[in-house]
Amino acid sequence: MTKGTINVSVENIFPLIKKFLYSDHEIFLRELVSNATDATLKLKHLTSIGEAKVEYGSPIIEVKVDKDNKKIHVIDQGLGMTAEEVQKYINEVAFSGAEEFVEKYKDKISDSGIIGHFGLGFYSAFMVAEKVEIITKSYKDEPAAHWTCDGSPNFTIEEADKTNRGTEIILHIAEDSTEFLDESRIKTLLLKYNKFMPIPIKFGTKEETLPLPEGADKDAKPEKVTVDNIINNTNPAWTKQPTDLKDEDYKSFYRELYPMQFEDPLFNIHLNVDYPFNLTGILYFPKLSNDLNLQKDRIQLYQNQVFVTDNVEGIVPEFLTMLRGVIDSPDIPLNVSRSYLQADSNVKKISSYITRKVADKLKSLFSDNREDFEKKWNDIKVVIEYGMLSDEKFFEKAEAFALYPTVDDAYFTYDELYNKIKAKQTDKDDKLVILYTSDKEAQHSYIEAAKAKGYEVLLMDSPIVSHLMQKLETTKEKVSFARVDADHIDKLIDKDEAKVSKLTEEEKISLEDLLKEVIPSEKFMVQLETMNSDDAPFIITQPEFMRRMKEMQQTGGG
Ligand code: ADP
Ligand code: MG
Repeated sequence: MTKGTINVSVENIFPLIKKFLYSDHEIFLRELVSNATDATLKLKHLTSIGEAKVEYGSPIIEVKVDKDNKKIHVIDQGLGMTAEEVQKYINEVAFSGAEEFVEKYKDKISDSGIIGHFGLGFYSAFMVAEKVEIITKSYKDEPAAHWTCDGSPNFTIEEADKTNRGTEIILHIAEDSTEFLDESRIKTLLLKYNKFMPIPIKFGTKEETLPLPEGADKDAKPEKVTVDNIINNTNPAWTKQPTDLKDEDYKSFYRELYPMQFEDPLFNIHLNVDYPFNLTGILYFPKLSNDLNLQKDRIQLYQNQVFVTDNVEGIVPEFLTMLRGVIDSPDIPLNVSRSYLQADSNVKKISSYITRKVADKLKSLFSDNREDFEKKWNDIKVVIEYGMLSDEKFFEKAEAFALYPTVDDAYFTYDELYNKIKAKQTDKDDKLVILYTSDKEAQHSYIEAAKAKGYEVLLMDSPIVSHLMQKLETTKEKVSFARVDADHIDKLIDKDEAKVSKLTEEEKISLEDLLKEVIPSEKFMVQLETMNSDDAPFIITQPEFMRRMKEMQQTGGG
C-alpha cells in the first residue's frame, strides 16, 4: 500500500480561479473598488480609535481608463500596505485581510461596513488583465512597495518611490478583454455596482457653472469650473434613520433608483434590523397592473452598499417581488446556489421579517388613514391577495386590512362584510352567501336585482380572485361565494316576484330552439325571463362551480 498527499499547488488553482470563480468577468471592477473602499474605511476607523496617528481628511477613490496604453487604474487614499503586508494579504490566496480586520477590532469598532470577506476578490483582476501591478504606500512610516504579477504564481516585489498614502492598482488589460477599455462601459459598470458606495468615486471630470455672486452685474457671465465627476451617492436613504427622512426624501430616492420611472410610488416601508441579523432597506409599493409577469426583478440587493443582484428570488417572499426598492444585508450568503439560499435559516428569517414588516405597515396605513388606503386599494390588491394565498401568516395579518370593495365603491373588511350581510344573505343550508361580480357592465341587470333585494355585491376583478374565494370558503366558517349571475342566486332571490318577460309565447318557442342549438346545455342555463322589466329579453347563467373551474385552469393551480 502506498500513501500520498494530493498536491494542490497554486499553479493549478490560478487558472481555476480565473475561469470559474466568477461567471461574470465584469465584476473585477466591483471587487477592486470594494477593496479601495475597505482600505479607506479601515483608515477611517483606525484614525477614529487613535491607532493610526494621521489625518484622515476627505479621501476619494479614482478610476481611470488609459485606452492608448490598455490600462485601467484604481487609485485610493486608504491605509495602504507595507511590503510585508503585500506578501501576507496579496500573495496568500483565500486569506482575507478584511475578515482579519473585522475580527481584530470587533470590540472597538461596530458596524465597520467592511465589504471583503473571502480573500478572493483581488484575483478577479486576472479575469481581464494579463498583468497586474500594485503600487502602495502604507500610512505607517515605511517605504512604498511595488508588486507585479503576470497571472502565473510568480511575482516580483520591490521598493517604489510613491510618497502619498494609499494604493494604486494597475491592470494591463488582456487582448480578449479590451471591451473594458471603453469609457462608457466602465461608467455603466460603476453606476451599476458602485452607485451607492460610501466613499466618493471619481471618474473623469465635468464642467460646472458657478452661481453668480449676490449683487453681480446683470451682464456678468457665470464662471465655469472643472470639477471631479463623482459617480456615487455616498449616503443613500436606506442607510439613514427613518426619523431623519421626509416623504419627499423617500420619493427622490425612488427616482434615483429608477430614473426611468416617472410615477411616484404609493408608499414606502423602511426596513431596519440589527438582531438577529443585519438588514436595512426601503421597499416601495408602485402602482401595480394586473399583469403579474411584468413586475419581476425590481428589488435590488446590496451588501454594505455594493450592488449584488436584482434577482431577489429566494430572499424576498415571492409575492413581494412585485415591489421595488433596496435591501442591504451583509448576512445573506451570496456565493451559494439559490436552492441552498432558500434552505438557509438566516435567509428564512429575513424573508419572514420582511413579510411581517410589510403587513405591519399596511395595517398602520389602513388604520391611520382608511380613506387614503381605500383609494390605493386597487393598485396594491394583487400583492396583498397573492400574499394571502401564499403565506399563512400574512393571511392572518391581512384580516386587519384586506378590503372587499362593492360595486358601489364601499370597502369592507371581511368582518365588516360578514356582519353586514349575515342577517339577509343565507341560503337554505344556512350558509352565508357572498355575492360578487367580476364585470359590472356585463352583469348589470343581475347586480341591480340583487341590490333591489338589499344585498351587497362585491366587485372582485383581480386575476387570482377565484383562488382567494376558495381560500376564504375553506378557512371561514359557513360562507360561500356566488357570482351574481350564478344559478345559486335562485336560493337567495325570489325571482318569481320580479319575473317579467318581454317575449311573446311564439318568440319564446322559436328562441328556445335556437338557443338549444348554439348554447351547450350542460354548461349554461337559459332563462327567458329577466328580473326587471327594462332588461334584456333573456339571460344565460352558468353554474358557479363550472365557471370557477375554468378560471382556475386559466390561472394555473387550484
Ligand atoms: P478580501 O477583500 O475578501 O479580504 P481580496 O482578495 O479582495 O480579499 O483582498 C485581499 C486583501 O488584500 C484585502 O483584505 C486587503 O488586506 C488587501 N488589499 C487589497 N486591495 C487593497 C487596497 N486597495 N488597499 C489596501 N489593502 C488592499
Ligand atoms: Mg475584496
